[in-house]
Amino acid sequence: MKKLFFLLVLFSTSCQWSAAQIFSASDIKKHVDLLASDAFEGRGTATLGEIKAANYLADLFKSAGLKAAGTNGTYFQPFQVTIGIDGFPHQMIARNVIGFLDNGAEKTIVVGGHYDHLGKGYQSGSLSPDSKNLIHNGADDNASGTTGVIELAKYFAGNSVKEKHNFLFIGFSGEELGLLGSKYYTESPTIPLKSISAMINMDMIGRYNPDKGLIISGWGTSAAWGEIIPDLAKKQNMKYTIDSSGVGASDHTSFYLKDIPVLQFFTGTHSDYHKTSDDSDKINAEGEANILKLIAGVLEKLDNEKQDPGFLPAGNPHAGATTSNFKVTLGVMPDYSFSGKGLKIDAVSKARPAEIAGIQAGDVITKLAGKTINTIYDYMDVLGDHEKGEQVEAEFLRGTETKVVKVIF
Ligand SMILES: [Zn+2]
Repeated sequence: MKKLFFLLVLFSTSCQWSAAQIFSASDIKKHVDLLASDAFEGRGTATLGEIKAANYLADLFKSAGLKAAGTNGTYFQPFQVTIGIDGFPHQMIARNVIGFLDNGAEKTIVVGGHYDHLGKGYQSGSLSPDSKNLIHNGADDNASGTTGVIELAKYFAGNSVKEKHNFLFIGFSGEELGLLGSKYYTESPTIPLKSISAMINMDMIGRYNPDKGLIISGWGTSAAWGEIIPDLAKKQNMKYTIDSSGVGASDHTSFYLKDIPVLQFFTGTHSDYHKTSDDSDKINAEGEANILKLIAGVLEKLDNEKQDPGFLPAGNPHAGATTSNFKVTLGVMPDYSFSGKGLKIDAVSKARPAEIAGIQAGDVITKLAGKTINTIYDYMDVLGDHEKGEQVEAEFLRGTETKVVKVIF
């Protein structure tokens, strides 16, 4: 009797625990560890490692009970990509992985994230020196977001609630080569684009730091986000910064450009970004579990709204002005979660103009080439005005101290 009582107590406390924590850090860790293991060879677009990852995703969609929503009754949507390897174009076939939770509803919410990464460094994009033939595991970018797609699919397919919307779960390929998979999907959708209420994207959600918080983009693409998210985040005691734009460096952009409200979740850049050191031991699985709980909450609220979230053009005056279009850069990684004035530096690249000039991580650039820098867009404007070899003055704050250095682009 005593023993039975003890068992009952144990049982009831463990139930309470699982209700509070709907996503399991150990499941998250399991998926990220596997997808970012050397066996998947960095999931380079259209490589064997990526096909392995696609099969893993499709198997999990199937066992969760999702319908195949790719091409020809499969979970895969193949598309052709041209990949430049050592200056030669190679025609290859990449594939999006798509599963459908069919609730018989008129409208559908898309939940996505890219599952490709930089492979073995042949397809461009690596920031590691001598990166060729080295596996870029891409644990944060984006085994973490792929895991988010898997876990949210399992959650919504397994919650014994028939939602008022259908859910379409997509693992995109070709993101690192320029959002190719999501562009292809929005040009050749497997459900009518008009039936999509909103698109939720996860790209790099594995490095949650409670001091920095979460970065949520697409805030301005629907009035619904400002109504739904603040309360949910408060309940979870989660700090966040927002970016209004629907145009950014991930797959939500493709949907935004089709007038669909979007959200993109991101835990910020770091010094392992696009390097061979983006490994799974650095993933904060507990933190990711909390982020997924927040996203599930957003999806549930969205599902229960009487009206569609409604699209708003979140005008981005700098659309298309991504840093890759510039002839010069400082070689710094901005801290996107910084909400003060200036450009806060999260990391500096070795032997690039900022490092050579003595700028360090933590510094906040307030003036560049005579122009006041309030936001990253001011910084991008300055870059657009300069050529390689030009010398300019940079003013920055280190702690409370103001410093001025000369920078040669
Ligand atoms: Zn990414």
